[in-house]
Amino acid sequence: MFGLIGHSSSFAQAQEKARDLGLEEMAEADLLSWCSAPPQLLETFEVTSKTGKTIQGTYIDSCFVPEMLSRFKTATRKVQNAMELAQKNGINVTALGGFTSIIFENYDLSKFQQIRNTTLEWERFTTGNTHTAWVICQQVETNAPALGIDLSKAKVAVVGATGDIGSAVCRWLAQKTQVGELLLVARQQQRLLDLQTSLGGGRILSLEEALPEADVVVWVASLPQTLTIDHSTLRKPCLMIDGGYPKNLDAKVAGDGVHVLKGGIVEFWQDIGWQMMEVAEMENPKRQLFACFAEAMLLEFEGIHTNFSWGRNNISLANMELIGNASLRHGFRAIALDSARSRSDNSGLELAAA
Ligand code: NDP
Repeated sequence: MFGLIGHSSSFAQAQEKARDLGLEEMAEADLLSWCSAPPQLLETFEVTSKTGKTIQGTYIDSCFVPEMLSRFKTATRKVQNAMELAQKNGINVTALGGFTSIIFENYDLSKFQQIRNTTLEWERFTTGNTHTAWVICQQVETNAPALGIDLSKAKVAVVGATGDIGSAVCRWLAQKTQVGELLLVARQQQRLLDLQTSLGGGRILSLEEALPEADVVVWVASLPQTLTIDHSTLRKPCLMIDGGYPKNLDAKVAGDGVHVLKGGIVEFWQDIGWQMMEVAEMENPKRQLFACFAEAMLLEFEGIHTNFSWGRNNISLANMELIGNASLRHGFRAIALDSARSRSDNSGLELAAA
């Protein structure tokens, strides 16, 4: 069995979900009461791969909401309690979705393995970041040419370049895709310099400097809602892959030559009998899901019971290829712009093919 640990995208949405589930008391409770609410195992379901193999999955809501991010103890407790629940249910491999993997890493929760009488076994968990990074690279490779962008000459800005996903995306785009030039954007300069050295190239720029130069922008940082982008300074065409969480770029910049695609989202080849993606506001919630969640499914399909994606900046190109091949084999494809989809449909190509 595989597991997915997730959360609602806001407190209001969590209350609405509680109401839908008939949990009236929770729906009426204030944020403080939610801070002490335990994780909930909300549903179990079956998933059948294109190969014919069927596995069972479970969705655990951590009862965390982004409004709790500033409460260090609450946020960490929510993640640890959800992991404990997953392990107690004997789940082989569980993906830490949404903010839960970031809380785990940023608060260094690997130091706290003992949760009450449970010793957390790390090999039962994955951040899902290897598959997310691979999917985002496929989205660049598939959609940029559909907009007439020649990747071998293109400037590709990676916002969040030094992050776990961002650094893997940079390595792939530099070595596999061989894009024209990488523009590296993040705040901490030393980490940028270290990345530049390890890549053997790439130009370090501020966000304001990078955006007007970029043919493609990969966003893999959780950016403040207050971020403003001056549409007139962007190149046209420009492909923006919005890989951060929450996804909020579309309303800010899409249109008039700027094409925004939800990053790190995959579509399964057939409907899955679950409710959980309704709250994630997917266009097709029975088939679309976060690539990090899909990684847990893929590891279960493949019988790889290990913490495949773990720690920071450990993602190898070999593992991206491994999980990418599994992704295609079991029936996932990266979501694409309509223009790329129709090109692919016309040519009979698989959208997410490497
Ligand atoms: P990390 O914390 O490892 O990396 C975040 C990166 O963003 C760092 O390079 C950080 O560098 C940079 N950053 C943060 N704030 C800013 C800012 N204001 N301006 C510029 N750069 C900034 O995160 P991950 O790589 O694990 O995740 C990245 C994003 O992907 C997150 O939003 C996450 O929620 C999302 N995600 C999506 C998934 C999916 O399935 N679609 C799955 C998993 C994650 P610095 O601090 O130096 O600025």
